[in-house]
Amino acid sequence: MASNREILMSELEQVKQKLPNIEGVTLEGCLPEIVRLHIYVDEMRQMTCVMQFLETYPTEPVVVELKSKTLTEKLLDGVVKLCDAEARKYIGQKQVILLVNFLKQFLIDNPLCIVNDEVGKVKKELLSDEDKCKLMQSASQVLLKVREEEYYMSFKISVPAQYPKQQIQLEITENNFPDILKINFLGQAIEIARQCVQPPLKKKPKEPPFEPKPSLYPVCEYLIKECIKRYAKETCPLCNERVLPQNPEDVTKLDKRKRIERVYCGHLFHYFCLYKFMKSPPFSAGKFCPTCGKQIFHDKFKVSAELQEARWAHKQARQRELAEVVDFLE
Ligand SMILES: [Zn+2]
Ligand SMILES: [Zn+2]
Repeated sequence: MASNREILMSELEQVKQKLPNIEGVTLEGCLPEIVRLHIYVDEMRQMTCVMQFLETYPTEPVVVELKSKTLTEKLLDGVVKLCDAEARKYIGQKQVILLVNFLKQFLIDNPLCIVNDEVGKVKKELLSDEDKCKLMQSASQVLLKVREEEYYMSFKISVPAQYPKQQIQLEITENNFPDILKINFLGQAIEIARQCVQPPLKKKPKEPPFEPKPSLYPVCEYLIKECIKRYAKETCPLCNERVLPQNPEDVTKLDKRKRIERVYCGHLFHYFCLYKFMKSPPFSAGKFCPTCGKQIFHDKFKVSAELQEARWAHKQARQRELAEVVDFLE
């Protein structure tokens, strides 16, 4: 009967012959002590695999170690475990080529492996128990359904093969936020993704050269933390009452005075609260958000301080006149 060593030597001969024929696989070393090879699917999905054999091999699984410049250690740790489970299916057989094919297929079948850690962080830090996150590996998409009280939003994130050099694509598939907010959420989220991959127009002299950054987590953080979880319960900085109605269906029934106004800093106001605030003095230094202190810019109130002063004075004068008329009539 052949010894384990002889079985291994004959397997390595076969590896030397067959491995170079597998597309994307490069054999870098093939000794009984160590087999080293590189698996390449695309720029982001590639790894180096080091295999070692116990004296008892092949009655024990081959020992696999994975390294990658693009895939994270956490992901690779998980893949090593899968690899070990796979190897155990082939106890007593030649395992090297079977495992190389297994690893290559894993990279092909799981394009989202390049965002593995980011998705983990989204689940851990941004989602609560009733929120849902689903991975569609075949389409390279992450589906999220996030809710806060009665408000919800479902969105789809597509991860391109050139990620993170290329930004994620975002689509809001379902939601019950008022349109004015939804349009804003989407526009801002797309802008955040763009800024991750495109250098700013004006480069600051001392800054290091621009490097594209992963855009999946920043977009999710904005949409989940800054939009969905926040705006559902946002209160008006002027009267401290909720701005979005408890029941989303009541948005269309809102009294004109309670209409939702979103200002530059992102805070929500009731239309009438903001109107009163913007139309009362002092005007000269500008108007500032009571919650965050940022200046309020709003299309509807784009009027110079001088004009505001003049209008206010005029209104006061008219009111005085009216009061005088009333006095006179009494
Ligand atoms: Zn208010
Ligand atoms: Zn504000």
